[in-house]
Amino acid sequence: AATRTIAELLKQGQAEAAAIRAPEGRAPLTYAGLRGLAEATVAALNARGIGRGDRVAMVLPNGPEMAAAFVAVAAGATTAPLNPAYRGEEFEFYIEDLKAKALIVQQGNETPARAAAAKLGVPIIELVPDAAAGAGAFTLEGGPSGTASSPGMAEAEDVALVLHTSGTTARPKIVPLTQTNITASARNIAETLALTPSDACLNVMPLFHIHGLIAATLSSLSAGSAVICTPGFNALKFFGWLDAERPSWYTAVPTMHQTILARAERNKEIIARAPLRFLRSSSASLPAQAMKDLASVFNAPVIEAYGMTEASHQMCSNPLPPRAQKPGLVGLPAGPEVAIMADDGSILAKGEIGEVVIRGPNVTKGYEANPEANAKAFTNGWFRTGDQGMFDEDGYLLLTGRLKELIKRGGEQVSPLEVDGVLSEHPAVAQALTFSIPHAMLGEEVGAAVVLREGMELTERELRDFAAKHLADFKVPRKVVFLAEIPKGATGKLMRIGLAEKLGLTA
Ligand code: ATP
Ligand code: MG
Repeated sequence: AATRTIAELLKQGQAEAAAIRAPEGRAPLTYAGLRGLAEATVAALNARGIGRGDRVAMVLPNGPEMAAAFVAVAAGATTAPLNPAYRGEEFEFYIEDLKAKALIVQQGNETPARAAAAKLGVPIIELVPDAAAGAGAFTLEGGPSGTASSPGMAEAEDVALVLHTSGTTARPKIVPLTQTNITASARNIAETLALTPSDACLNVMPLFHIHGLIAATLSSLSAGSAVICTPGFNALKFFGWLDAERPSWYTAVPTMHQTILARAERNKEIIARAPLRFLRSSSASLPAQAMKDLASVFNAPVIEAYGMTEASHQMCSNPLPPRAQKPGLVGLPAGPEVAIMADDGSILAKGEIGEVVIRGPNVTKGYEANPEANAKAFTNGWFRTGDQGMFDEDGYLLLTGRLKELIKRGGEQVSPLEVDGVLSEHPAVAQALTFSIPHAMLGEEVGAAVVLREGMELTERELRDFAAKHLADFKVPRKVVFLAEIPKGATGKLMRIGLAEKLGLTA
């Protein structure tokens, strides 16, 4: 039978198998423990007047308690995990915008979210870790008392999770995702990766973003396997975690993989004694060169996948061996139906470029309170991703860029992703981000921000000459700036839009 709610999904695991683990030798939370925690949490919320469909904002440090709280609260209410790095005013905005009925914070954790909730009259519930009961276990204390109008476990069409998009191209939009949406996505990912109870995922992703919540946490739980919850990505600790915890896989964004690659050489012995079944990359484009380097350093397949908040994460994924992982492509449809749409709404054939559209049980029904965005987002039942791409002859999707990020240089269109890919092939380049620079005559001109590998030197002229060997003249960046680090947005994404202004560039 299909598992369409979190409560059903949690029945997948063996009672005594580890569901949630934490580094540093803490005892794991078993599936029996997690099921009990979900029931106790739903009862504790119900006794505070919070039930199905009621929103609970959560501001928690990344780690096992946050993973457990996501699952346990979503079992009977709606979770809205917020980025703990927000400032007071941001918390006020989100807690009010979400119409949260309560805020969960960790006991002893002094976040400005507390004052924001107090100002708005939103009650605070304290999460008290109960490490003796297993990693991530907790009890809830304080907050209101009352009777929930819809108590008990959530049903398939209840909203389980509310997140904002990353805000890479526009102001973040609120995306409600139902129990059906997120459990379908978790299952899709578990199937793509052939997860079994003997797997363990090392989670380094933040748990206020769809990638960490669904691709690392819920997919692991839907397969009865374990998720090892770290405090978040840390390049210095990463190899120690591999060695001590022996995960079978991890999933991360390309910038993290690139940081890991930079430190791989001096950690060769750990990599050899703590082998991974595969690595997964998603949420932004992984340059082909980085993919090949990772596969050879880790001696494991690198599975690049294509995900977005509105799809509860995964849309396409490269398959596991014996099927091919194509560098620079995001793989085969892996969950929803995926098609390419022309401007007139017709569906295009393989080899033709257009907007990527999706439909399926993992896709949101629409943005919250945003009829204008929804009118633009749905065409003939398809959700428009805002990404441009085409299918190759084998049915693998090639993304050419976000429609809003394409550079319109005079009469030509430049795909920043294509230029990133070429620049990343230069041996001195660790990371490259191509972006639009306003230009008086052409409208837009091509610029690139580049981070060099440790100890390497390269001039703007040399890099442009290299690019000109692989790219038509109009695609070659006119301006290259070398940076120690490329600026990132709140979810860790590189920001092309607005980068020229930030760097004070005009062409
Ligand atoms: P906003 O919609 O608010 O501008 P966002 O689109 O960055 O922000 P997310 O939902 O976190 O918010 O990201 C989804 C987007 O990330 C996709 O639409 C796509 O543009 C990009 N993306 C995800 N995976 C990949 C990938 N493997 N390769 C290239 N781009 C990817
Ligand atoms: Mg988006």
